[in-house]
Amino acid sequence: MREQNELYIDGAWRVPIQPSVLELNHPATGEPTGRVTLGGEADVDAAVTAAERAFISYSRTTPRERIALLERVLTEFDDRFEDLVQAVTEEVGAPLPLVRGAHLPTARVQIATAIEILKTYEFTETRGETTIRKEALGVAGLITPWNFPVLQPVGKTVSALAAGCTVVLKPAELTPSSAVILAEIMDAAGVPAGVFNLVTGRGSVAGSALSAHPGVGTVSFTGSVATATQVAIAAAPTVKRVTSELGGKSPHILLPDADFAVAVETAKSWLLATTGQLCSAPSRTLVPRDRVEEFLSVLVPAVEALRVGDPRAEETFMGPLISAEQWDIVQGYIRRGLDEGARLETGGLGKPAGLEAGHFARPTVFSDVDNAMTIAQEEIFGPVMSVIAYDTVEEAIAIANDTPYGLAAYVTSGDLEAANAVAERIRAGYVLINDTDFDWTAPWGGYKRSGNGREFGAAGLGEYLETKVIRG
Ligand code: ADP
Repeated sequence: MREQNELYIDGAWRVPIQPSVLELNHPATGEPTGRVTLGGEADVDAAVTAAERAFISYSRTTPRERIALLERVLTEFDDRFEDLVQAVTEEVGAPLPLVRGAHLPTARVQIATAIEILKTYEFTETRGETTIRKEALGVAGLITPWNFPVLQPVGKTVSALAAGCTVVLKPAELTPSSAVILAEIMDAAGVPAGVFNLVTGRGSVAGSALSAHPGVGTVSFTGSVATATQVAIAAAPTVKRVTSELGGKSPHILLPDADFAVAVETAKSWLLATTGQLCSAPSRTLVPRDRVEEFLSVLVPAVEALRVGDPRAEETFMGPLISAEQWDIVQGYIRRGLDEGARLETGGLGKPAGLEAGHFARPTVFSDVDNAMTIAQEEIFGPVMSVIAYDTVEEAIAIANDTPYGLAAYVTSGDLEAANAVAERIRAGYVLINDTDFDWTAPWGGYKRSGNGREFGAAGLGEYLETKVIRG
Protein backbone atom coordinates (compact mmCIF):
# COMPACT_ATOMS: atom_id res chain seq x y z
CA MET A 1 0.00 0.00 0.00
CA ARG A 2 1.30 3.42 -0.92
CA GLU A 3 0.95 6.11 1.69
CA GLN A 4 1.79 9.62 0.57
CA ASN A 5 1.26 12.34 3.14
CA GLU A 6 3.63 15.11 2.15
CA LEU A 7 4.08 17.81 -0.43
CA TYR A 8 7.42 18.95 -1.81
CA ILE A 9 7.79 22.68 -1.16
CA ASP A 10 10.91 24.82 -1.02
CA GLY A 11 13.25 21.85 -1.22
CA ALA A 12 11.65 19.90 1.66
CA TRP A 13 8.86 17.39 2.26
CA ARG A 14 6.10 18.94 4.36
CA VAL A 15 2.71 17.82 5.62
CA PRO A 16 -0.08 19.88 4.05
CA ILE A 17 -1.34 22.94 5.89
CA GLN A 18 -4.85 22.12 4.63
CA PRO A 19 -4.89 18.32 4.33
CA SER A 20 -7.59 16.20 2.75
CA VAL A 21 -7.31 12.47 2.23
CA LEU A 22 -8.03 10.56 -0.97
CA GLU A 23 -8.21 6.75 -1.14
CA LEU A 24 -6.87 5.17 -4.32
CA ASN A 25 -7.71 1.83 -5.90
CA HIS A 26 -6.25 -0.35 -8.63
CA PRO A 27 -7.98 0.15 -11.99
CA ALA A 28 -7.69 -3.58 -12.78
CA THR A 29 -9.07 -4.94 -9.52
CA GLY A 30 -10.78 -2.12 -7.68
CA GLU A 31 -8.67 -3.12 -4.64
CA PRO A 32 -7.29 -0.32 -2.46
CA THR A 33 -3.72 0.62 -3.36
CA GLY A 34 -3.11 3.41 -0.91
CA ARG A 35 -4.02 6.88 0.18
CA VAL A 36 -2.71 10.32 -0.52
CA THR A 37 -3.03 13.43 1.61
CA LEU A 38 -3.79 16.32 -0.69
CA GLY A 39 -2.95 19.96 -0.10
CA GLY A 40 -5.19 23.02 -0.30
CA GLU A 41 -5.07 26.71 -1.12
CA ALA A 42 -2.64 27.59 1.69
CA ASP A 43 -0.23 24.93 0.41
CA VAL A 44 -0.41 26.35 -3.10
CA ASP A 45 0.34 29.75 -1.64
CA ALA A 46 3.39 28.40 0.23
CA ALA A 47 4.66 26.72 -2.92
CA VAL A 48 4.17 29.80 -5.10
CA THR A 49 5.92 31.97 -2.49
CA ALA A 50 8.88 29.58 -2.49
CA ALA A 51 8.94 29.54 -6.29
CA GLU A 52 8.84 33.34 -6.45
CA ARG A 53 11.77 33.58 -4.06
CA ALA A 54 13.77 30.97 -5.98
CA PHE A 55 13.01 32.70 -9.28
CA ILE A 56 15.19 35.67 -8.34
CA SER A 57 18.40 33.66 -8.61
CA TYR A 58 17.32 30.72 -10.78
CA SER A 59 16.10 32.96 -13.61
CA ARG A 60 19.62 34.40 -13.80
CA THR A 61 21.42 31.08 -14.21
CA THR A 62 23.20 30.54 -17.48
CA PRO A 63 22.05 27.99 -20.08
CA ARG A 64 25.22 26.04 -19.27
CA GLU A 65 24.21 25.81 -15.59
CA ARG A 66 20.71 24.71 -16.57
CA ILE A 67 22.16 22.07 -18.90
CA ALA A 68 24.18 20.67 -16.01
CA LEU A 69 21.05 20.61 -13.85
CA LEU A 70 18.97 18.85 -16.49
CA GLU A 71 21.75 16.33 -17.08
CA ARG A 72 21.54 15.40 -13.41
CA VAL A 73 17.74 15.18 -13.71
CA LEU A 74 18.17 12.80 -16.66
CA THR A 75 20.53 10.57 -14.67
CA GLU A 76 18.11 10.42 -11.75
CA PHE A 77 15.18 9.79 -14.12
CA ASP A 78 17.00 6.78 -15.55
CA ASP A 79 17.73 5.54 -12.02
CA ARG A 80 14.04 5.64 -11.12
CA PHE A 81 12.78 4.22 -14.43
CA GLU A 82 11.44 0.98 -12.96
CA ASP A 83 9.79 2.74 -9.99
CA LEU A 84 7.99 5.00 -12.44
CA VAL A 85 6.93 1.99 -14.53
CA GLN A 86 5.33 0.34 -11.50
CA ALA A 87 3.66 3.57 -10.37
CA VAL A 88 2.10 4.32 -13.77
CA THR A 89 0.87 0.75 -14.23
CA GLU A 90 -0.71 0.83 -10.80
CA GLU A 91 -2.21 4.30 -11.05
CA VAL A 92 -3.40 4.38 -14.65
CA GLY A 93 -3.81 0.66 -15.33
CA ALA A 94 -1.66 1.00 -18.45
CA PRO A 95 -0.08 -2.29 -19.60
CA LEU A 96 3.58 -2.71 -18.72
CA PRO A 97 4.84 -2.80 -22.35
CA LEU A 98 3.00 0.46 -23.06
CA VAL A 99 4.46 2.12 -19.98
CA ARG A 100 7.97 0.90 -20.76
CA GLY A 101 7.66 1.59 -24.47
CA ALA A 102 5.67 4.83 -24.56
CA HIS A 103 4.89 6.52 -21.24
CA LEU A 104 8.49 6.71 -20.07
CA PRO A 105 10.49 7.08 -23.29
CA THR A 106 8.27 9.97 -24.41
CA ALA A 107 9.01 11.68 -21.09
CA ARG A 108 12.72 10.89 -21.16
CA VAL A 109 13.11 12.39 -24.61
CA GLN A 110 11.75 15.69 -23.25
CA ILE A 111 14.64 15.94 -20.78
CA ALA A 112 17.26 14.93 -23.36
CA THR A 113 15.81 17.35 -25.91
CA ALA A 114 15.73 20.28 -23.49
CA ILE A 115 19.43 19.72 -22.85
CA GLU A 116 20.20 19.68 -26.59
CA ILE A 117 18.11 22.79 -27.30
CA LEU A 118 19.81 24.75 -24.53
CA LYS A 119 23.19 24.12 -26.16
CA THR A 120 22.30 26.34 -29.12
CA TYR A 121 19.17 28.32 -28.18
CA GLU A 122 19.49 32.01 -29.01
CA PHE A 123 18.19 33.88 -25.95
CA THR A 124 19.54 37.16 -27.31
CA GLU A 125 19.35 38.71 -30.75
CA THR A 126 21.15 41.92 -31.67
CA ARG A 127 20.12 44.21 -34.51
CA GLY A 128 22.37 47.26 -34.50
CA GLU A 129 21.55 49.16 -31.34
CA THR A 130 18.55 46.99 -30.60
CA THR A 131 18.89 43.93 -28.40
CA ILE A 132 16.00 41.51 -28.13
CA ARG A 133 16.20 39.27 -25.10
CA LYS A 134 14.18 36.19 -24.25
CA GLU A 135 13.85 36.05 -20.48
CA ALA A 136 12.29 33.59 -18.06
CA LEU A 137 8.62 34.50 -17.69
CA GLY A 138 8.19 33.85 -13.97
CA VAL A 139 6.66 31.14 -11.83
CA ALA A 140 5.06 28.44 -13.95
CA GLY A 141 1.93 26.75 -12.59
CA LEU A 142 1.61 23.33 -14.20
CA ILE A 143 -1.69 21.46 -14.06
CA THR A 144 -1.64 17.96 -15.51
CA PRO A 145 -4.09 15.11 -16.21
CA TRP A 146 -3.91 11.44 -15.28
CA ASN A 147 -3.66 9.76 -18.68
CA PHE A 148 0.09 10.31 -19.28
CA PRO A 149 1.21 11.17 -15.73
CA VAL A 150 4.94 11.18 -16.47
CA LEU A 151 5.10 12.70 -19.96
CA GLN A 152 2.90 15.70 -19.16
CA PRO A 153 4.55 16.79 -15.90
CA VAL A 154 8.06 16.10 -17.23
CA GLY A 155 7.45 17.82 -20.57
CA LYS A 156 6.15 20.97 -18.93
CA THR A 157 8.67 20.96 -16.10
CA VAL A 158 11.79 20.63 -18.25
CA SER A 159 10.62 23.29 -20.69
CA ALA A 160 10.01 25.66 -17.77
CA LEU A 161 13.31 24.84 -16.07
CA ALA A 162 15.24 25.16 -19.33
CA ALA A 163 13.73 28.62 -19.79
CA GLY A 164 14.78 29.67 -16.28
CA CYS A 165 11.31 29.55 -14.75
CA THR A 166 10.52 28.03 -11.39
CA VAL A 167 7.69 25.53 -11.10
CA VAL A 168 4.67 24.58 -9.02
CA LEU A 169 3.25 21.28 -10.28
CA LYS A 170 -0.33 20.25 -9.48
CA PRO A 171 -0.76 16.74 -10.89
CA ALA A 172 -4.05 14.88 -11.27
CA GLU A 173 -5.58 13.54 -8.06
CA LEU A 174 -5.52 9.96 -9.39
CA THR A 175 -1.81 9.87 -10.16
CA PRO A 176 0.09 11.22 -7.14
CA SER A 177 2.70 8.45 -6.92
CA SER A 178 4.37 9.14 -10.25
CA ALA A 179 4.41 12.86 -9.37
CA VAL A 180 6.01 12.14 -6.00
CA ILE A 181 8.74 10.09 -7.72
CA LEU A 182 9.28 13.02 -10.06
CA ALA A 183 9.77 15.34 -7.06
CA GLU A 184 12.21 12.82 -5.58
CA ILE A 185 14.09 12.87 -8.88
CA MET A 186 14.31 16.68 -8.75
CA ASP A 187 15.46 16.55 -5.15
CA ALA A 188 18.13 13.92 -5.85
CA ALA A 189 19.33 15.92 -8.87
CA GLY A 190 20.03 18.88 -6.61
CA VAL A 191 17.44 21.22 -8.07
CA PRO A 192 17.74 24.29 -5.79
CA ALA A 193 15.11 24.78 -3.08
CA GLY A 194 11.94 26.40 -4.43
CA VAL A 195 12.79 25.84 -8.10
CA PHE A 196 10.53 22.79 -8.33
CA ASN A 197 7.53 22.38 -6.01
CA LEU A 198 4.87 19.69 -5.93
CA VAL A 199 1.40 20.26 -4.51
CA THR A 200 -0.96 17.31 -4.90
CA GLY A 201 -4.50 18.59 -4.53
CA ARG A 202 -8.00 18.58 -5.92
CA GLY A 203 -8.49 20.49 -9.14
CA SER A 204 -11.32 22.61 -7.82
CA VAL A 205 -9.20 23.61 -4.80
CA ALA A 206 -5.46 23.52 -5.53
CA GLY A 207 -5.79 23.79 -9.31
CA SER A 208 -8.00 26.81 -9.16
CA ALA A 209 -5.83 28.46 -6.46
CA LEU A 210 -2.78 28.00 -8.69
CA SER A 211 -4.61 29.42 -11.72
CA ALA A 212 -5.70 32.50 -9.78
CA HIS A 213 -2.49 33.13 -7.82
CA PRO A 214 -0.99 36.57 -8.56
CA GLY A 215 2.51 35.18 -8.05
CA VAL A 216 2.14 32.79 -10.99
CA GLY A 217 3.27 34.16 -14.35
CA THR A 218 2.00 31.41 -16.62
CA VAL A 219 -0.26 28.41 -16.32
CA SER A 220 0.28 25.42 -18.54
CA PHE A 221 -2.77 23.19 -18.43
CA THR A 222 -3.57 19.82 -19.96
CA GLY A 223 -7.05 18.38 -19.48
CA SER A 224 -10.63 18.90 -20.57
CA VAL A 225 -12.16 21.91 -22.31
CA ALA A 226 -14.54 22.47 -19.39
CA THR A 227 -11.67 22.70 -16.91
CA ALA A 228 -9.55 24.81 -19.27
CA THR A 229 -12.37 27.33 -19.29
CA GLN A 230 -12.33 27.45 -15.48
CA VAL A 231 -8.54 27.87 -15.50
CA ALA A 232 -8.73 30.71 -18.02
CA ILE A 233 -11.46 32.48 -16.02
CA ALA A 234 -9.47 32.14 -12.79
CA ALA A 235 -6.32 33.38 -14.54
CA ALA A 236 -7.95 36.33 -16.31
CA PRO A 237 -7.91 38.93 -13.49
CA THR A 238 -4.12 38.67 -13.23
CA VAL A 239 -3.69 38.60 -17.04
CA LYS A 240 -1.30 35.70 -16.81
CA ARG A 241 -0.42 33.64 -19.84
CA VAL A 242 -2.40 30.42 -20.14
CA THR A 243 -1.44 27.67 -22.53
CA SER A 244 -3.62 24.63 -22.84
CA GLU A 245 -3.63 21.23 -24.45
CA LEU A 246 -7.11 19.80 -24.45
CA GLY A 247 -9.19 17.05 -25.92
CA GLY A 248 -9.71 15.79 -29.41
CA LYS A 249 -11.99 13.87 -31.71
CA SER A 250 -9.27 13.02 -34.14
CA PRO A 251 -10.21 11.78 -37.61
CA HIS A 252 -8.42 8.98 -39.39
CA ILE A 253 -8.97 9.27 -43.14
CA LEU A 254 -8.49 6.07 -45.10
CA LEU A 255 -7.98 7.28 -48.67
CA PRO A 256 -9.51 5.12 -51.44
CA ASP A 257 -6.27 3.17 -51.93
CA ALA A 258 -5.61 2.64 -48.19
CA ASP A 259 -3.97 -0.54 -46.99
CA PHE A 260 -6.34 -1.68 -44.26
CA ALA A 261 -3.65 -3.63 -42.41
CA VAL A 262 -1.82 -0.31 -41.89
CA ALA A 263 -5.05 1.43 -40.87
CA VAL A 264 -5.82 -1.25 -38.29
CA GLU A 265 -2.35 -0.82 -36.79
CA THR A 266 -3.06 2.90 -36.39
CA ALA A 267 -6.28 2.09 -34.54
CA LYS A 268 -4.48 -0.37 -32.30
CA SER A 269 -1.49 1.87 -31.54
CA TRP A 270 -3.23 5.16 -30.95
CA LEU A 271 -6.79 4.31 -29.90
CA LEU A 272 -6.91 0.87 -28.33
CA ALA A 273 -3.47 0.45 -26.69
CA THR A 274 -4.30 3.32 -24.32
CA THR A 275 -7.90 2.08 -23.82
CA GLY A 276 -8.83 5.23 -25.73
CA GLN A 277 -7.43 7.45 -22.98
CA LEU A 278 -5.29 9.57 -25.28
CA CYS A 279 -6.23 13.10 -26.30
CA SER A 280 -4.98 12.42 -29.83
CA ALA A 281 -6.79 9.07 -30.22
CA PRO A 282 -8.11 8.38 -33.75
CA SER A 283 -11.69 7.87 -32.64
CA ARG A 284 -13.38 8.67 -35.99
CA THR A 285 -12.38 6.46 -38.91
CA LEU A 286 -13.43 7.80 -42.31
CA VAL A 287 -13.70 5.05 -44.93
CA PRO A 288 -14.69 5.14 -48.65
CA ARG A 289 -18.32 3.99 -48.72
CA ASP A 290 -17.68 1.18 -51.19
CA ARG A 291 -14.92 -0.26 -48.99
CA VAL A 292 -16.61 -0.05 -45.57
CA GLU A 293 -17.63 -3.72 -45.40
CA GLU A 294 -14.17 -4.81 -46.53
CA PHE A 295 -12.57 -2.60 -43.88
CA LEU A 296 -14.83 -3.98 -41.15
CA SER A 297 -13.93 -7.51 -42.20
CA VAL A 298 -10.28 -6.70 -41.44
CA LEU A 299 -10.83 -4.46 -38.41
CA VAL A 300 -13.36 -6.44 -36.37
CA PRO A 301 -11.41 -9.72 -36.12
CA ALA A 302 -8.27 -7.72 -35.23
CA VAL A 303 -10.12 -5.90 -32.44
CA GLU A 304 -11.66 -9.13 -31.16
CA ALA A 305 -8.23 -10.78 -31.06
CA LEU A 306 -6.77 -8.12 -28.75
CA ARG A 307 -5.86 -9.28 -25.29
CA VAL A 308 -7.69 -7.22 -22.72
CA GLY A 309 -6.59 -7.88 -19.18
CA ASP A 310 -4.48 -7.12 -16.16
CA PRO A 311 -1.93 -4.44 -17.06
CA ARG A 312 0.70 -6.24 -14.99
CA ALA A 313 0.60 -9.27 -17.31
CA GLU A 314 3.21 -8.86 -20.04
CA GLU A 315 0.90 -10.29 -22.75
CA THR A 316 -1.87 -7.75 -22.11
CA PHE A 317 -2.49 -5.33 -24.97
CA MET A 318 -5.32 -3.26 -23.50
CA GLY A 319 -5.79 -2.53 -19.81
CA PRO A 320 -8.78 -1.13 -17.91
CA LEU A 321 -10.05 2.42 -17.82
CA ILE A 322 -8.58 4.38 -14.95
CA SER A 323 -11.64 4.67 -12.71
CA ALA A 324 -15.23 3.64 -12.12
CA GLU A 325 -16.23 7.20 -13.02
CA GLN A 326 -14.48 6.93 -16.39
CA TRP A 327 -16.09 3.53 -16.97
CA ASP A 328 -19.54 5.04 -16.39
CA ILE A 329 -18.80 7.87 -18.83
CA VAL A 330 -17.73 5.40 -21.53
CA GLN A 331 -20.82 3.22 -20.95
CA GLY A 332 -22.97 6.32 -21.31
CA TYR A 333 -21.45 7.04 -24.73
CA ILE A 334 -21.87 3.44 -25.92
CA ARG A 335 -25.53 3.58 -24.88
CA ARG A 336 -25.87 6.90 -26.71
CA GLY A 337 -24.37 5.38 -29.86
CA LEU A 338 -26.90 2.55 -29.74
CA ASP A 339 -29.79 4.96 -29.05
CA GLU A 340 -28.79 7.26 -31.91
CA GLY A 341 -28.83 4.36 -34.37
CA ALA A 342 -25.18 3.50 -34.94
CA ARG A 343 -24.55 -0.16 -35.82
CA LEU A 344 -22.57 -2.08 -33.22
CA GLU A 345 -19.94 -4.21 -34.95
CA THR A 346 -18.16 -5.52 -31.86
CA GLY A 347 -17.86 -4.76 -28.14
CA GLY A 348 -20.66 -2.77 -26.57
CA LEU A 349 -21.98 -2.30 -23.07
CA GLY A 350 -20.62 -4.08 -20.01
CA LYS A 351 -17.32 -5.66 -19.13
CA PRO A 352 -15.38 -8.31 -21.02
CA ALA A 353 -16.05 -11.83 -19.71
CA GLY A 354 -13.88 -12.72 -16.73
CA LEU A 355 -12.88 -9.11 -16.06
CA GLU A 356 -15.77 -8.00 -13.89
CA ALA A 357 -13.71 -6.72 -10.94
CA GLY A 358 -11.81 -3.83 -12.51
CA HIS A 359 -12.83 -0.89 -14.68
CA PHE A 360 -12.58 -2.85 -17.96
CA ALA A 361 -14.48 -1.75 -21.05
CA ARG A 362 -15.02 -3.76 -24.22
CA PRO A 363 -13.16 -2.55 -27.31
CA THR A 364 -16.06 -1.25 -29.34
CA VAL A 365 -16.58 -0.46 -33.02
CA PHE A 366 -19.63 1.33 -34.38
CA SER A 367 -20.37 1.61 -38.09
CA ASP A 368 -23.12 3.57 -39.86
CA VAL A 369 -22.07 6.56 -37.78
CA ASP A 370 -23.22 9.98 -38.90
CA ASN A 371 -20.70 12.69 -37.98
CA ALA A 372 -23.48 14.63 -36.24
CA MET A 373 -24.03 11.83 -33.70
CA THR A 374 -22.84 12.38 -30.14
CA ILE A 375 -20.27 9.56 -30.40
CA ALA A 376 -18.70 11.34 -33.39
CA GLN A 377 -18.72 14.82 -31.87
CA GLU A 378 -17.75 14.33 -28.22
CA GLU A 379 -14.52 13.00 -26.81
CA ILE A 380 -15.25 9.62 -25.19
CA PHE A 381 -11.81 8.84 -23.73
CA GLY A 382 -12.55 5.15 -24.07
CA PRO A 383 -11.92 2.31 -26.57
CA VAL A 384 -14.75 3.27 -28.88
CA MET A 385 -14.31 3.77 -32.63
CA SER A 386 -16.83 5.37 -34.95
CA VAL A 387 -16.61 4.27 -38.59
CA ILE A 388 -17.99 6.94 -40.91
CA ALA A 389 -18.53 6.38 -44.64
CA TYR A 390 -17.62 9.03 -47.21
CA ASP A 391 -18.19 9.33 -50.95
CA THR A 392 -15.47 11.71 -52.10
CA VAL A 393 -12.13 12.81 -50.65
CA GLU A 394 -13.50 16.36 -50.54
CA GLU A 395 -16.32 15.11 -48.33
CA ALA A 396 -13.85 13.19 -46.13
CA ILE A 397 -11.87 16.38 -45.51
CA ALA A 398 -15.07 18.26 -44.67
CA ILE A 399 -16.14 15.55 -42.19
CA ALA A 400 -12.64 15.46 -40.68
CA ASN A 401 -12.84 19.21 -40.03
CA ASP A 402 -16.44 19.12 -38.82
CA THR A 403 -15.52 18.98 -35.13
CA PRO A 404 -14.92 21.57 -32.42
CA TYR A 405 -11.53 19.95 -31.89
CA GLY A 406 -8.26 20.03 -33.84
CA LEU A 407 -5.53 18.20 -31.97
CA ALA A 408 -4.47 15.37 -34.27
CA ALA A 409 -5.45 13.60 -37.48
CA TYR A 410 -4.34 10.48 -39.29
CA VAL A 411 -4.22 9.62 -43.00
CA THR A 412 -3.62 6.19 -44.52
CA SER A 413 -2.77 5.91 -48.22
CA GLY A 414 -0.28 4.22 -50.52
CA ASP A 415 0.21 7.58 -52.21
CA LEU A 416 2.29 9.81 -49.92
CA GLU A 417 1.72 12.87 -52.07
CA ALA A 418 -2.05 12.45 -51.88
CA ALA A 419 -1.84 11.84 -48.13
CA ASN A 420 0.21 15.02 -47.66
CA ALA A 421 -2.23 17.04 -49.74
CA VAL A 422 -5.06 15.89 -47.45
CA ALA A 423 -2.95 16.49 -44.32
CA GLU A 424 -2.41 20.11 -45.34
CA ARG A 425 -6.15 20.69 -45.43
CA ILE A 426 -6.99 19.28 -42.00
CA ARG A 427 -7.25 21.84 -39.23
CA ALA A 428 -5.28 20.00 -36.59
CA GLY A 429 -1.94 20.47 -34.85
CA TYR A 430 -0.44 17.12 -35.84
CA VAL A 431 -1.15 14.78 -38.76
CA LEU A 432 0.31 11.29 -38.79
CA ILE A 433 0.53 9.46 -42.10
CA ASN A 434 0.59 5.66 -42.45
CA ASP A 435 0.94 4.60 -38.84
CA THR A 436 4.25 6.30 -38.26
CA ASP A 437 5.20 7.27 -34.68
CA PHE A 438 4.86 10.79 -33.32
CA ASP A 439 8.04 12.82 -33.12
CA TRP A 440 7.70 13.79 -29.45
CA THR A 441 10.17 16.63 -29.79
CA ALA A 442 8.09 18.43 -32.46
CA PRO A 443 5.56 21.11 -31.42
CA TRP A 444 2.52 19.48 -29.79
CA GLY A 445 -0.83 21.26 -29.46
CA GLY A 446 -4.18 21.91 -30.97
CA TYR A 447 -6.25 24.05 -33.27
CA LYS A 448 -9.69 25.28 -32.26
CA ARG A 449 -10.96 23.92 -28.93
CA SER A 450 -8.04 21.54 -28.58
CA GLY A 451 -6.10 24.32 -26.93
CA ASN A 452 -3.59 27.03 -27.56
CA GLY A 453 0.16 27.16 -27.44
CA ARG A 454 2.56 24.31 -28.12
CA GLU A 455 4.49 21.92 -25.94
CA PHE A 456 7.73 19.96 -26.23
CA GLY A 457 11.06 20.88 -27.76
CA ALA A 458 11.95 24.43 -28.70
CA ALA A 459 8.29 25.44 -29.12
CA GLY A 460 7.55 24.29 -25.58
CA LEU A 461 10.52 26.21 -24.20
CA GLY A 462 9.29 29.36 -25.96
CA GLU A 463 6.02 29.31 -24.00
CA TYR A 464 7.97 30.01 -20.80
CA LEU A 465 9.85 33.03 -22.15
CA GLU A 466 9.04 36.72 -22.13
CA THR A 467 10.48 39.13 -24.70
CA LYS A 468 12.37 42.28 -23.78
CA VAL A 469 13.92 44.91 -26.02
CA ILE A 470 16.86 47.01 -24.86
CA ARG A 471 18.03 49.77 -27.14
CA GLY A 472 20.76 52.30 -26.77
P1 ADP B 1 -9.49 14.86 -16.90
O1 ADP B 1 -10.80 14.63 -17.56
O2 ADP B 1 -8.29 14.44 -17.66
O3 ADP B 1 -9.46 14.48 -15.44
P2 ADP B 1 -9.62 17.55 -16.02
O4 ADP B 1 -9.64 18.72 -16.89
O5 ADP B 1 -10.78 17.28 -15.14
O6 ADP B 1 -9.34 16.38 -17.00
O7 ADP B 1 -8.33 17.53 -15.08
C1 ADP B 1 -7.05 17.89 -15.52
C2 ADP B 1 -6.34 18.57 -14.38
O8 ADP B 1 -7.05 19.76 -14.04
C3 ADP B 1 -6.26 17.75 -13.10
O9 ADP B 1 -5.01 17.99 -12.48
C4 ADP B 1 -7.37 18.34 -12.26
O10 ADP B 1 -7.18 18.19 -10.87
C5 ADP B 1 -7.29 19.80 -12.64
N1 ADP B 1 -8.52 20.57 -12.39
C6 ADP B 1 -9.78 20.14 -12.27
N2 ADP B 1 -10.63 21.16 -12.04
C7 ADP B 1 -9.88 22.29 -11.99
C8 ADP B 1 -10.16 23.68 -11.81
N3 ADP B 1 -11.39 24.14 -11.60
N4 ADP B 1 -9.13 24.55 -11.85
C9 ADP B 1 -7.86 24.12 -12.09
N5 ADP B 1 -7.54 22.83 -12.28
C10 ADP B 1 -8.52 21.91 -12.22
